[in-house]
Amino acid sequence: MTLSQLPELPPPPSALCIDALAAELAEFQPIQGGAELERLSKDFYAYSPILSPLLAERRAQLAVRASSLEQVRRVASACARFGVPLTLRGAGTGNYGQCVPLQGGLVLDMTGLRRLRSLDPESGELVAEAGCLLADLDRQLAPRGRALRLAPSTYRTASLGGFIAGGAGGIGSLRWGFLRDPGNLLGLEVMTVEPEPRLLQLDASASAPLNHAYGTNGILTALRLPTCAAVDWQQLVLGFADWDQALAALQGLAGSALLLNNVALLEAPVAAAMPWPAGCPGGGDSGRSGGEHRLLLLAAPESLERLPELLGAWGGALRWQEAQSASRGLPLRELCWNHTTLHWSGPRPDWTYLQLLLPPDPRPLLSALRQRWGEELLWHLEAVHQHGAVRLSGLPLLRYQGPDALAALIDQCRDLGALVFDPHQVTVEEGGLGGIDPAQVAAKAAYDPAGLLNPGKLRGWQSAPWAGFSRSPG
Ligand SMILES: Cc1cc2nc3c(=O)[nH]c(=O)nc-3n(C[C@H](O)[C@H](O)[C@H](O)COP(=O)(O)OP(=O)(O)OC[C@H]3O[C@@H](n4cnc5c(N)ncnc54)[C@H](O)[C@@H]3O)c2cc1C
Repeated sequence: MTLSQLPELPPPPSALCIDALAAELAEFQPIQGGAELERLSKDFYAYSPILSPLLAERRAQLAVRASSLEQVRRVASACARFGVPLTLRGAGTGNYGQCVPLQGGLVLDMTGLRRLRSLDPESGELVAEAGCLLADLDRQLAPRGRALRLAPSTYRTASLGGFIAGGAGGIGSLRWGFLRDPGNLLGLEVMTVEPEPRLLQLDASASAPLNHAYGTNGILTALRLPTCAAVDWQQLVLGFADWDQALAALQGLAGSALLLNNVALLEAPVAAAMPWPAGCPGGGDSGRSGGEHRLLLLAAPESLERLPELLGAWGGALRWQEAQSASRGLPLRELCWNHTTLHWSGPRPDWTYLQLLLPPDPRPLLSALRQRWGEELLWHLEAVHQHGAVRLSGLPLLRYQGPDALAALIDQCRDLGALVFDPHQVTVEEGGLGGIDPAQVAAKAAYDPAGLLNPGKLRGWQSAPWAGFSRSPG
């Protein structure tokens, strides 16, 4: 395989064109330089040593913030008339460089659109604006006994629109699968990018091509989602001396009928490096042979009755327990998914990571990789539900030994049956979906006919026959 290269794109619009656009949008107080423009042009791609140098110099030429549909309409119309690339931004927590503008242009910060429009008391369906922060939304749902089904570990900072456009799953994926699984997105309100933008209401099937499209094929202004009954999840940390027993416990719990919202397994050295919540003992020694492997569990209170007996059979021990509602400081959720990567990589800039869906029997892959990479590769596993079965998602941590070694590891993972959601690539296709989805490309033709939204991120559009005809007039 070849590691990421940026797609060839036309040059950014001229300064003259950007000044004229800024003048038209003067009432938005556009940001045209400085640290704030820099910040609004970045996300969390720095975990990738491949993307870091490629994206370092990429930035927007101006940024504005919208807080109403009318303001979004005005910005979309102006970008269409001036032919200026438009990149949407939620909270900017994506880890694939999703909201880094590759061709300059304008960044539109959507976090001002943050209204919960409705919550159906019967069905639990909600309609909320795209800029709502997920934690804020949940706070509004809680008094009505409801909760979001799925959330990234960045739940406290991420936006709803950014999660649907850029995320994949996370806390809750053990029960509800991935965001793109049918039933997790019921409908969208979308603004088109045209001189006269249209506001469209899409049903679930018409919404699917915009789900995980990195904001390349429509501006999401509101989303319709199912919710689930709220549970005060108990956070539990379980310790295991033996890796195989810890893995058996992960799979056993994930496949049980207990009501669980997340279960993650951290290999001993990774566990030893985590900032455990107050009151929870540390994970011990940092070597592979010392310390203990740890399972992180979010369980419904009524599921705890069977746990001691099951734990005894797997050779595990309870280290800590606390209700999520009583969390002081870090909730356990923030030691899971890519928060594990964050805590590990912060003090270790020579490490990076991968995102995988392991084959149904993960053991041959796990042992082959342990044999080949030794202590240079450490395991962090998350259990998920996929197409009716329990599967393991792997976010292994890897000492970076250059692009060739990384490419060899990715090839080996594929050969061993894993799906790779390559976090060292900038396109929707290479980062997750695997191949071109013609429905995503058709949606772009319908809702962004000049190809202005987040240029370079949808490979299917770049390679379409019309690619290259959309040029900034500046
Ligand atoms: C430490 C860490 C942990 C993470 N854990 C998880 C995890 O558990 N699960 C997971 O899925 N992801 C995870 N992520 C990635 C990311 O945090 C989430 O996907 C998050 O939901 C993105 O939301 P955001 O508001 O920050 O989106 P942004 O980063 O702002 O945007 C993401 C993408 O969506 C597009 N976009 C934003 N708003 C709109 C809109 N209104 N219309 C159309 N397109 C739009 C942007 O252009 C961009 O392409 C993690 C990242 C980090 C750094």
